[in-house]
Amino acid sequence: MPTASTPIYARVALPCPLYRVFDYRLAQPGRIAPGSRVRVPFGRRNLVGVVVELSPDTELPPAQIRPLSELLDAQPVVPPDLLALLCWAAGYYHHPIGEVLAQALPALLRQGRPARIEQTRHWQLSAAGRAVDPADLARAPRQAALLSVLTRCPEGADRDRLQHEGLYRRDSLRALVDKGWVEERLETPGLDTPGAGAAAPSLNPAQADAVQAVAEHAGFGCFLLDGVTGSGKTEVYIRAIEQALAAGRQTLLLVPEIGLTPQLMQRLRARLAAPMVILHSGLSERERLNAWVAARDGAARIVVGTRSAVFTPLPAPGLFIVDEEHDPSLKQQDGFRYSARDLLIWRARQQDVPVLLGSATPSLESLYNADQGRYQRLHLPNRAGAASAPELKLLDIRGQPLREGLAEPLLGAMRRHLARGEQVLLFLNRRGFAPTLICHECGWVAACRRCDSHLTLHQRRGRLHCHHCDASQEVPVQCPECGSPDLRGLGYGTERIEQTLQQLFPDHPCLRIDRDSTRRKGQLEALLEQAHSGAARILLGTQMLAKGHHFPGVTLVGILEADQRLFSSDFRASERLAQLIVQVAGRAGRAERPGTVLIQTHHPDHPLLRRLVTEGYAAFAAAALAERRDTGLPPYASLALLRAEATDREAPREFLEQAHALAQQQSGPEIEFWGPVPAPMEKRAGRYRAQLLVQSAARAALHRLLDAWIPVLAESPAARRIRWSVDVDPVDTF
Ligand SMILES: [Zn+2]
Ligand SMILES: [Zn+2]
Repeated sequence: MPTASTPIYARVALPCPLYRVFDYRLAQPGRIAPGSRVRVPFGRRNLVGVVVELSPDTELPPAQIRPLSELLDAQPVVPPDLLALLCWAAGYYHHPIGEVLAQALPALLRQGRPARIEQTRHWQLSAAGRAVDPADLARAPRQAALLSVLTRCPEGADRDRLQHEGLYRRDSLRALVDKGWVEERLETPGLDTPGAGAAAPSLNPAQADAVQAVAEHAGFGCFLLDGVTGSGKTEVYIRAIEQALAAGRQTLLLVPEIGLTPQLMQRLRARLAAPMVILHSGLSERERLNAWVAARDGAARIVVGTRSAVFTPLPAPGLFIVDEEHDPSLKQQDGFRYSARDLLIWRARQQDVPVLLGSATPSLESLYNADQGRYQRLHLPNRAGAASAPELKLLDIRGQPLREGLAEPLLGAMRRHLARGEQVLLFLNRRGFAPTLICHECGWVAACRRCDSHLTLHQRRGRLHCHHCDASQEVPVQCPECGSPDLRGLGYGTERIEQTLQQLFPDHPCLRIDRDSTRRKGQLEALLEQAHSGAARILLGTQMLAKGHHFPGVTLVGILEADQRLFSSDFRASERLAQLIVQVAGRAGRAERPGTVLIQTHHPDHPLLRRLVTEGYAAFAAAALAERRDTGLPPYASLALLRAEATDREAPREFLEQAHALAQQQSGPEIEFWGPVPAPMEKRAGRYRAQLLVQSAARAALHRLLDAWIPVLAESPAARRIRWSVDVDPVDTF
C-alpha cells in the first residue's frame, strides 16, 4: 500500500533547451530509480529522458501530470555518482540539465537502445576471394560490386560501410561466403585488445619521486605534474596507471586531441597489458556505446578520451589524469560550455580519487592553485637521457629585409643546419596562401559577406575561403570593382611559405602539416612518417605540429610570427603565446644535439617575451600572474560571459542591456559588469554578436548572482527571441 511518502512522480530531464525537469506519473512505484531512461509523452512527441529524481508530490495539479510511456532500464543506466556530476555541472555552468545529460550519453542510448555491448558482422576477402576478378562475375553484378568494395577494404567492412556504398545485401554476401571467397566474422567494435606489456625503462630520480608521491597518497589529491617536454611525464602516467591496475582500480585519462597524440597512444598500448578503450570523435556510434558499456561494467580498466570522456561511468575509479592540462580544447566552446579538466577535479573529490594534471606549460590557474597549496607540485626539471633544453633567441626583424616573411638570419641558420644533415621546423599558425587578396590597382579587398573578415587565398585550390564561417568561392580573375587583373595575395600563410621554401631550398624536401594538407584520413600519419624517417628535411606547419610529436632530427625551430598575440584584446593571449612557443620549441633537439629556437618579432623588448626567452616558462608565468593580480583578472577573479547574437544588428545589444538591468537588481557591489559591447569580430556567419562580461573577485558572489539571474533571464520573453548563451569561466573572452 503506497504511503504519503512513496514516490509516485518522476522528475525527468528531457533533451530540450529548458532550464527545468518535467514531472510524470509512475505506473508502478518502486520499480524505478534515478538514472534510468524512460520514454515519455512530450507535446505530441515521445521523447527519451533520464529520471533525475523521484518525488511523492508535484507542484502541478496532479490531474495535469501524464504517465510515463515506458521504462527503458531495469537498472539505472546513469550511475548515482555520474548523475550527481551531471546535475552539478548543469548548475555550475548554467546549462539545461536535459541537454547536459544528452551530451554525456552516447547517441544510441539517447535513442533508447539497450545499454549493452553488441557484436557486429564483418566481411573480408579470403585468399581465394582475392584471386577472383570481379569482371568474371558479369552474371552476378551485386556480388561483383561487393568483391570490388571488399578489395578496397583490406581490413574488411561492416554493415554500415556496405550500406554506405549502397551494397548491403545479405543474400549476395551469403553467396560469396558459400563460395569461400569472403569470410564472415563477429567483431566487437570499440574494444581494444590489451596491450603488449613491454619492459619498463628505469626512472630518473625526479620521475621516481613523482611516482612515489602519487603512490603514497590515499584518496583525493590534486597533483600538478610540471615537466618540460621530453622529461618523461608519460612514464609517470604509466607507472601511476600500473599502480591503479594492481589495486584493482580503473584509470580515466583525458587528452586534448587523440589524433595529435599518436605517440602517447602507442606508448600506452605497448606498455599496459590491460583492457583499454579510447573515446574520441572518430568513433562510430556502436563503437562509442560498446566502449562506454565496457567502462561502466568495469571490463575496460583504462579509459582514454577527449573532453567528453569525463562523463564515462566507472564502477571502480582509482586514478584520473589530464594530459596537457593547459590546453584550451579541454573547454567546450559551444552549447554546454564545460571544462573537462575542472569537472574531472570535481569528480575526483567526490569519488575520493587522486588526479594528476600534466603539462610542460601549466596554465596560470593551475600554477596559482599549486602556489596556494591546493595542488601538490611535482617537478620534472630535466629532459630524459643526455638531451639538453633548446636555446630560445629573439630575432629582431625591425627594418630587416624579409624574403616572403623569412628574415636573412633565419635563412642563414637554416642553411647551416640543413648542410649538417639536420632537420628544420618552421611554425606559422596561419594556413592558406595569403590571409588577404587585394587589388593592386584600386585597393579592393576580398571580404567575407557574412563576417567582418577577409577571405583567405588558397592558391592551390584556386579558392577564397573564410576561416570563420567556412564560406568559399572561386578566386576572381579580375577585380570586381575596377576590372583590373592585378590581384595579389597580401601576407603569408603556410602554403606560400612552402612555395618559397621550395624555391630557396630546392634540394631539401619540405613538408607542410596543417588542416588543409591532412584533410583525408591517413594523410597526417603519412606526413608524420616522412618527418620521422628524415625523408623531409624542412617541416612547416601550424599548431598541429606543436603538439605531441617529437622530431629528434630537428635542431632548428623558426617561429615566424609571435607579434599578433602580443597585442590581442584577449587577456590570455600572452599565456597562449608562451605555451605555444615552449611547446613548439620542445619538438627540437631531443637527443644529444641541443636545439635552437629563433623567434621572429618586431617587439624584441616586450617584457613578457623577454622574460620567457631569458628565464624560461616558470619565470614568465610568475610575471604574467603578477600582472593578472594587479589587473584583477583570473585566477584572481571569476568571470562569466553572456553572449547574444542575431541577424539584426541592434537586437543582441538590446537583449544584453535588459539582461544587465535585471542583473543589477540582484547583484551587490562585489560584482562588476563590462559592456554590453560588440564582440571583437561583430559579424560572423551572417549574425551580429555582442557580449556582457560579469566579473567578481568572489567566486561565490558571482555564482549567487548567476543562480538568481540566469533562470529568470531564461524565462523572459526577450530570451526566446534571440540566440544567447552563458559561458562560466570562459577561456576565450572574445
Ligand atoms: Zn580593383
Ligand atoms: Zn565568413
